Amino acid sequence: MKIFVVSEKNDNRVAVTPDIAKKFVDLEHEVHVAVDAGMNAGFSNVEYEKAGAMLCPADSGVKNADVVFSINFQKLQYEPGTILITSQVIDLTFCEEQKLTVLALDRMPRTTRAQYMDILSSQASLAGYKAMIEASHEINRAIPLMMTTAGTIPAARVLVIGAGVAGLQAIATAKRLGAVVSAFDVRTSAKEQVQSLGAKFIEVDAGEKIDGVYAKEMSEEYKKAQEKRLREILPSQDIVITTAQIPGKKAPLIIKADMIETMKQGAVVIDLAAKSGGNCEITVSDKVVEKNGVKVIGFENILNLIPYDASKLYAKNIFAFFELLMSKMKIQPDITRIDDDILKATLVTHNGSKVN
Ligand code: NAD
Repeated sequence: MKIFVVSEKNDNRVAVTPDIAKKFVDLEHEVHVAVDAGMNAGFSNVEYEKAGAMLCPADSGVKNADVVFSINFQKLQYEPGTILITSQVIDLTFCEEQKLTVLALDRMPRTTRAQYMDILSSQASLAGYKAMIEASHEINRAIPLMMTTAGTIPAARVLVIGAGVAGLQAIATAKRLGAVVSAFDVRTSAKEQVQSLGAKFIEVDAGEKIDGVYAKEMSEEYKKAQEKRLREILPSQDIVITTAQIPGKKAPLIIKADMIETMKQGAVVIDLAAKSGGNCEITVSDKVVEKNGVKVIGFENILNLIPYDASKLYAKNIFAFFELLMSKMKIQPDITRIDDDILKATLVTHNGSKVN
């Protein structure tokens, strides 16, 4: 297969890193990489060449490719029938018009078998870590309990809202830094995971429970109970990291503007759900909004601050995904007829025809 790796726009990551490019080359694929595609993530053109990849301008790379790898959806001049493996489809009509076969990795099922290929999990994990590190830079105080001859500094209090992949990593990072951490989530299974990291799980007693891995919009009764509990907790917190998302929907609004006013001067809120509308009412993407001395920071793409590792994990995920695709296509070349839950879920169009 002729593979082409695009240069991302407004994103410091790259879909294929040199070590993974080498793995593709070892499997006898021809790898073409857009010039400087890895530069912002910390991977030089020379590293790709050493890995056996060829550098080329974007136009010629796309034109000659059987498979194109990207992180963000890009409207390039693809050849009809090209397989595009990307994180998300933004324009379905474009895929139809260009007769593309598109596999969108944000549609990966949340199953054990899919874990190695799950870009949402790998990227969310790094996002959660980085959110806590950013918060520690923005806060005007120390995080751990410190006993000094001049007195004792109490540990900072961190609240994590949404204890999924990003939230759990934020909790683990906050614990490593020495914070007193609490968290809450609408899913019952999150409780044990939060507690196993040494954090306190905040219960919201509203009778509604969600089993499994997919959250949903909660009832008005639950929302009221959650808000009441949050109003009790927020004034004591130094850092709040929000990560709450509902698959396929706008992020739930959890911190209202007037709740920010009850927080300590100097407190920091990091809203990782900014891209899908934000968990905090006053969040503005990629801006620091200050209200009553509280900083609310919404990151559109916090992974831009940790592109090296984010690219490494993304590349490993897509290598595993591509291996699965190739192994199945050897037996059944018609991709629409492959009986595999992962491929079925991620296949959006086949030669321009809508599949999923
Ligand atoms: P996500 O990014 O969709 O949402 C983040 C968290 O926000 C979730 O835990 C969700 O329950 C929570 N949330 C939603 N509404 C909320 C509200 N109103 N208040 C508080 N919290 C709210 O989820 P995610 O991080 O991708 O994963 C969620 C779960 O799925 C985790 O347990 C994760 O381990 C699991 N998962 C499994 C796989 C797999 O097995 N391949 C892949 C991805 C996720």
